[in-house]
Amino acid sequence: MSDDPTNTNIIRTELNDRLDRIRAGLLAMNDMVSLRIDQVTAALLERDVVAADALIIGDDEIDLLSHQVEDLCIDTLIREQPVASDLRAIIAAIHMNSDIERSGDLTTNIAKAVGRLQGSKPDDRIRDLILRMADQAKMLTDQAGIAYSDLDAELAASIDELDDVLDDLHRTFIQTVIHSSRHGDLEAHETLQLAMIGRFYERIGDHAENVGERIRYIVSGWTPEKAGAERARARATGDLPDEPMNTARGLAVIDSVAEGRRIDATRRDFVANVSHELKTPIGAISLLAETLADAGPDDDRDRLTRHLNREVKRVESIIDDLLELTRLEEFDPDRQQVEIDELVHAAVDVARGLADARGISLAIVGVPSGIGIMGEQKQLVRALVNLIDNAIRYSEPETTVNIEVDPIQGAVDVKVSDTGVGIARAELERIFERFYRVDPARSRETGGTGLGLSIVRHVAENHDGKVLVESKPGDGTTFTMQLPTASED
Ligand code: ADP
Repeated sequence: MSDDPTNTNIIRTELNDRLDRIRAGLLAMNDMVSLRIDQVTAALLERDVVAADALIIGDDEIDLLSHQVEDLCIDTLIREQPVASDLRAIIAAIHMNSDIERSGDLTTNIAKAVGRLQGSKPDDRIRDLILRMADQAKMLTDQAGIAYSDLDAELAASIDELDDVLDDLHRTFIQTVIHSSRHGDLEAHETLQLAMIGRFYERIGDHAENVGERIRYIVSGWTPEKAGAERARARATGDLPDEPMNTARGLAVIDSVAEGRRIDATRRDFVANVSHELKTPIGAISLLAETLADAGPDDDRDRLTRHLNREVKRVESIIDDLLELTRLEEFDPDRQQVEIDELVHAAVDVARGLADARGISLAIVGVPSGIGIMGEQKQLVRALVNLIDNAIRYSEPETTVNIEVDPIQGAVDVKVSDTGVGIARAELERIFERFYRVDPARSRETGGTGLGLSIVRHVAENHDGKVLVESKPGDGTTFTMQLPTASED
């Protein structure tokens, strides 16, 4: 068919023309990526989410250009098969095309980092990583520019190596973010809010999967499938009204697979712990019952009976708390409008008996009336009672436990403060774990089950709130339950 030399020449001219267009497309994409990296890094250092969000449009243009180059390459491959020696250049072009698209993704990832940083404590590790990512990305685009002008397959391969470096950095970055959110460098609610900066999160799924996490998308006006190229095309043809970026939000939640495994292990530990916790008092009960059967004088019997009752109470409290925890895990709160001042007074009434028995005063300071929250009264009172009981049990007689309500923007802080033994910094993270006690002997002696704070945390989380703790050993402790207030409508 194409043995005719004139025909071959025409093909060759066409091919050269096509290769020129491919090369120009690659270089244009590379320039765009390079510029984007500078802009996004600058926005990042300013922690300017809105600016970074706006820059994402640029990534869509890169996607579109990349699709055009890819179409051109494939079309060329199909048409120009006879000119075999040039296939290599086209294959290299396809290869490079995907490289640039990936570097384009990188700008998105750097932009995500802006979102992550916004509102959080500046984290030097994350900041450092982002700067390294930006550096590597620049190196990639610089080298790539040389390779694209020659469409050189070997140079393209060296870019591949750099790409591996970037992949590594991505992984480290996501891991650092996940680690920071789990360990409190980023607060859980911040992580969620930041995840709301939806468009940055289109590709987070890939990277989350890379580090063994699963991603779940809760979408509102945005789908991860809606590719950048499609958006850019729609924008170009006017199909997509120039929507304000803010309305095009989605929510991506990292469903942590690793977390799931951790939970399984925690469950196993939990069963072991429960058995252990119950075994001790039940063993004591059985021993006491035997002794009681053989006991002589009345005072001996009284003492043994008192002891027996205490152990029975302990088993009852553990079982009560366990049932409560299970209920909290399985059922959503039955929400009604409840007034904060009523909650506080109800909780103080319950805790009063223990406070009196231990010579501790309870003081309600500044509880404004008329602050309502949507929640289950019983659960909320229970959580507050646990906090007040703890404050009493870990304080010396003749001291005062303060209960204070502090309205903040859209939420309310209910604070329980004591001047008791306090909690060492290293223990603060652990005290919310089931059965964790700083001083097991003191906890048992004062009737603690080791489950009180787990219940508090569950109740707060079930009500979209959280529990914070500040403490200084020797000076005392303040627990704050922060709950969103009911909206005005
Ligand atoms: P417990 O029933 O043992 O008190 P919690 O879950 O209520 O269990 O609390 C866990 C641990 O946290 C306690 O054993 C105690 O060491 C510590 N803790 C809780 N509240 C206070 C407080 N107000 N002051 C000092 N330590 C506290």
